[in-house]
Amino acid sequence: MQQLFNFCAGPATLPVAVLQRAQQEMLDWQGTGISVMEISHRSQEYQALANKAESDLRQLLAISDDYAVLFLHGGASLQFSNIPMTLLSAASKNDRRSARYLVNGVWSKKASEEAARYAAIEVTQVRKTNADGHYYLDDDIADSVKSQQSSLIYTHFTPNETIEGMRFNSVPQTSSPLIADMSSCILSEVIEVDQYDLIYAGAQKNIGPAGLCIVIVKREFFEKMTFTHVPKILNYQLQDQHKSMLNTPPTYAWYLASLVFEWLLEQGGVAAMQQLAIERAEHLYRLIDEDDFYGNSIAMDNRSRMNIPFSLPDESLNETFLKQAKQHKLLGLKGHRSVGGMRASLYNAMPMQGAECLVDFMRWFKQTYG
Ligand SMILES: *Cc1c(COP(=O)(O)O)cnc(C)c1O
Repeated sequence: MQQLFNFCAGPATLPVAVLQRAQQEMLDWQGTGISVMEISHRSQEYQALANKAESDLRQLLAISDDYAVLFLHGGASLQFSNIPMTLLSAASKNDRRSARYLVNGVWSKKASEEAARYAAIEVTQVRKTNADGHYYLDDDIADSVKSQQSSLIYTHFTPNETIEGMRFNSVPQTSSPLIADMSSCILSEVIEVDQYDLIYAGAQKNIGPAGLCIVIVKREFFEKMTFTHVPKILNYQLQDQHKSMLNTPPTYAWYLASLVFEWLLEQGGVAAMQQLAIERAEHLYRLIDEDDFYGNSIAMDNRSRMNIPFSLPDESLNETFLKQAKQHKLLGLKGHRSVGGMRASLYNAMPMQGAECLVDFMRWFKQTYG
């Protein structure tokens, strides 16, 4: 019997070992006689879990004490809304307020639209088309005259665009504080946290269940923020002081994230995940590039390792492809409606074997229907 693999872009596949452990602990968590969902977040047991999750994440990404690590509600969307609200809104103390948004796809565009509600932001379209029709990222974003004049409060970018399957292969150089939406790539590659002032990531791709969002923020950056006009639970500094427990946090999602962090450490940490991500993605791209049957329109340098969109030679084959894939126990391959075609998401929890099964299936499909 072949194992089932889920390539959904999010909510996404979780490590089987983590799910099994959650199952074992479901009815009696750590000898409490109840599940982790039913215990007070202020209990000693839960506090220990919360602290462990934070310290494991700090270890995984080598996060220094200059940064707060927050476990918040509301997904990535609430964070890309809260960021301009606390840094750019009229009520904030930043007089000549502006920010720069690098736009390379759906999520970075949405983030920029939220910010545009508060200030005249600079939007830099970094997704370009090269001579052979492939998309690439123009990461030469040297500060423009305009941005020098308005003294940017921050630059926001999305290192991995989940829907388009595009990745920055270097960190954009800017003199302003840098904010990154790492929802679909966090923990899949080694980063230097010091290069950023704020990193946020919705959990449902590489971390755990939806609803939880991790925020890693430089404590010095609080000084640029104004919180008087936002709800208390959106106050990063207060959340830091209260260890993300101003109100009841998403306890089950936090618990599952803690299991994922433990699992990641057992696997060899982020460096091991990065290696695996490279191999997994290369395996699939190699097949796509073999001939004209499958297509991918992203320039080599900017191809995502996490989300791989691909097309079939004829759209009328799409339905058959998905049906056959399902029969082969390969799920979640339908592309985003805005891009069409197929998309395989290969997050940390996807074993190499999953990518191999997908490639074997795609080769069979090509031979059968090509
Ligand atoms: C999924 C995703 C989001 C949205 O996350 P929500 O938790 O649904 O708000 C934002 N940015 C990126 C890059 C994503 O992949």
